[in-house]
Amino acid sequence: MAASSSRRQTVQTRVLIGAGALVIALLAFAALQFFRTPGPPIPDDMPDVDRPVFRAQNALDLARAQVEFGPRIPGTPAHDSTRMWIAERLRRSGARVAELPVTVTHGGETLQGTNLFASFDTTATRRILLAAHWDTRPVADNDPDPARRSEPVPGANDGASGVAVLLEMARLCGEHPPPVGIDLVFFDLEDAGETGFESDSTKLPYALGSAAFVQQNPRYRPAYGVLLDMVGDRDLRLPKEGYSAQAAPDIVERVWEAARRVGADAFVDEVGGAVFDDHIPFLQRGIPVIDVIQTPFPDTWHTTADTMDRLDAVSLGQVGRTLVELIYGMEAQMASR
Ligand SMILES: [Zn+2]
Repeated sequence: MAASSSRRQTVQTRVLIGAGALVIALLAFAALQFFRTPGPPIPDDMPDVDRPVFRAQNALDLARAQVEFGPRIPGTPAHDSTRMWIAERLRRSGARVAELPVTVTHGGETLQGTNLFASFDTTATRRILLAAHWDTRPVADNDPDPARRSEPVPGANDGASGVAVLLEMARLCGEHPPPVGIDLVFFDLEDAGETGFESDSTKLPYALGSAAFVQQNPRYRPAYGVLLDMVGDRDLRLPKEGYSAQAAPDIVERVWEAARRVGADAFVDEVGGAVFDDHIPFLQRGIPVIDVIQTPFPDTWHTTADTMDRLDAVSLGQVGRTLVELIYGMEAQMASR
């Protein structure tokens, strides 16, 4: 009896202590809510799973390594070396890699390039495409100094930034098997286009590598895709690209939701400029590939000032963390349903 009564008392005491602790915890939580500086809202449906860490400094180093090869102009030794370097990194990350040659003839001129295709979990039927262009523009024709407009663009932001984020994603996908099939595509021959090509067929178009890719792989249909272009500027600002917002609004919302979840505030909730980029050949075939691109373009765009000193690891990190949340958060959540 006594023992039993004493045990009951102990239980009651524990319950009381437990209730007291709960009240204190609730008060502390309420106080924290009250004093917390406003930040991104944390949605209550975030799955309790570990996300791999996107290392922004790695990405910045990967951008620098590309710039150090020199301008990646098709047909130059720097372009060849960069292609081999990207392919080698992808293979080392454990991806299955294919080098897909592209030949384009235009106005009696022949352009040769190589798209690189890298896959993680080739057996998965649901696949997500992540892409960027790896070539750089042969001429800095937007340079403020007319005397420098025939020089090549260094391509730190326009070329290297997107590739850098993808290569860091490759490392991460190799170390942490993604819950969905991931294809990384590095397009060549994106950035030699001439202004006015849409209405004048004598002018060389942009996005030749991705147009060739879509043509060569008519049965390749990922669930959706995200193209990265100019995602590393220190003043990164990413409104929703116009064609993407129009043709694939649900994918745009999904990616911006991922950005919101990780507090990547460079992704702003407004529609920006419409850009003819590597996503267009996919959109034309009804494959929802969206473009994550800074608009208006940074003032280094197609100038000799598109150099490493304008890039920032924080910017690359925002884009990388968004992709990690998209894949290891939102896609994992879908796969577990
Ligand atoms: Zn460009």
